[in-house]
Amino acid sequence: MSDCLFCKIIAGEIPSTKVYEDEYVYAFKDINPLAPIHVLIVPKEHISGASEITSENSAVVSKIFETAAKLAKELGISEDGFRIVTNCGDHGCQSVHHLHFHLLGGKQLTADMG
Ligand code: AMP
Ligand code: ZN
Repeated sequence: MSDCLFCKIIAGEIPSTKVYEDEYVYAFKDINPLAPIHVLIVPKEHISGASEITSENSAVVSKIFETAAKLAKELGISEDGFRIVTNCGDHGCQSVHHLHFHLLGGKQLTADMG
């Protein structure tokens, strides 16, 4: 999608600090980290959010979770634990409308999910 921030990041048109890339998935550091480790993991294919996941495009979601587990080990947060979050729509406070999963860790996170 031409006007999508994360599509531009994936295409290299906007700089990012890449932590992983393969045929299906791109992962980069969040510009405004909420924890010592805060990585965004996104599908290369433009999917606007979790509400648009279908049987046709859902395979990439398992790739994203495989990537999250791999990165958590590499980044040293696998044993202590971490959180994976995706925000969807207005009530979910989604600000970028390209599906993305926040991988957060490196400190004790709070239980408040609201
Ligand atoms: P969300 O609010 O769930 O849609 O998450 C969007 C995330 O994208 C936020 O955590 C932002 O800090 C992050 N973000 C916005 N612009 C950039 C950028 N240029 N590079 C890296 N992360 C970004
Ligand atoms: Zn996009």
